[in-house]
Amino acid sequence: MKKILFNLTQPELEQFVTDMGLPRFRATQIREWLNRGAPDFSVMKNLPEDLRQKLNESAQTLPVKIVTRLDSSDNQTTKFLLELEDAQQIECVLMRTTYGNSVCVSSQAGCAMGCKFCASTLLGLKRNLTVNEMFAQILVAQWELRRNRADTEHVHPNGDANNGDVSHIVVMGTGEPLQNTSNVIGFLNRANDELHISWRRITVSTCGIVSGIEELNTWGRPINLAISLHAPTDELRSQIMPINNKYKINEVLKAAFDFSDAQNRQLMIEYILLGKRDENGDVVLYNCSNEHANKLSELLRGHNVMVNLIPWNTVDERDFASISGNAVHRFQDILIKNGIHTRIRRERGADIGSACGQLRLKHKKG
Ligand code: SAH
Repeated sequence: MKKILFNLTQPELEQFVTDMGLPRFRATQIREWLNRGAPDFSVMKNLPEDLRQKLNESAQTLPVKIVTRLDSSDNQTTKFLLELEDAQQIECVLMRTTYGNSVCVSSQAGCAMGCKFCASTLLGLKRNLTVNEMFAQILVAQWELRRNRADTEHVHPNGDANNGDVSHIVVMGTGEPLQNTSNVIGFLNRANDELHISWRRITVSTCGIVSGIEELNTWGRPINLAISLHAPTDELRSQIMPINNKYKINEVLKAAFDFSDAQNRQLMIEYILLGKRDENGDVVLYNCSNEHANKLSELLRGHNVMVNLIPWNTVDERDFASISGNAVHRFQDILIKNGIHTRIRRERGADIGSACGQLRLKHKKG
């Protein structure tokens, strides 16, 4: 198996190059390229050609390898399917927005949560991702951004940090981050320390693991917390999110409000608008009737929250349906009337199956 140089400590990397009969300074040169996210050794132009070739044969740069990439038709969203050392596959998504460049990071290969509307969990949980595997997802995106700039603006790929690099991280890819809390914290500490991504530009999304939310609160960084709520009553939520059998809505929201109060951050509530088809094939509202909107408002009233309404991205294996634009707006209007901040999430990259594990799933099924 090829050695992954990004995973080596600096002394180990020095040992590796000296074992190859090379001078020690090669380790410093290689490290700089690794930290920039070099996908392979061919790009390391300050190494001799034959050495680059030799390295490509015996080693790998990052702990993630790009298997496929897909670009949305507006070129604002790029989705990467990445392969890990043990051949597990994960996804990460780069979103170029007006406020910056955001990367949606996966925290696990697969997912154990079993949410009934989601594609990521269909094949179950394979394993937690390491700190390096999460960090490398950012580097893949960063490399891509710098490569684009080098193409269009003749900027050297070693561009400076405030010039169109990754500025935002959302831990909203495959997996439940609070089942892998210590690695997620390790990853975010590094992103903040090494890439200078500010806490306020980092969001962790959870289905509601109360112990993990408390851990984040103890860690005490002013990141954004997002709760995937998706239903306003325990009865309905338990039908679509098995985690609700362990942590009830009230407990989850209490932990989340405590976090947002302590860190002085607005809490984000994610709410997918789900429909179901009746026997005539008509779409009926599943979790987004007027009554649901009023119940949701009651849960949140008086707190510093923003409800992100999410159109459901179709997953063929799943028995839900998207609701009409009118129904989305009706639901939103009720929240607004009740004094709840709300926003409809712009769909990004729906044309490239960017939602929640779809690419990985398609690949696995061949
Ligand atoms: N496990 C974490 C983070 C990953 S999921 C969590 O549950 O928050 C990120 C978000 O995408 C969650 O709000 C999840 O419910 C939502 N999601 C999953 N499948 C979706 C789909 N098909 N369409 C739209 N959103 C989806």
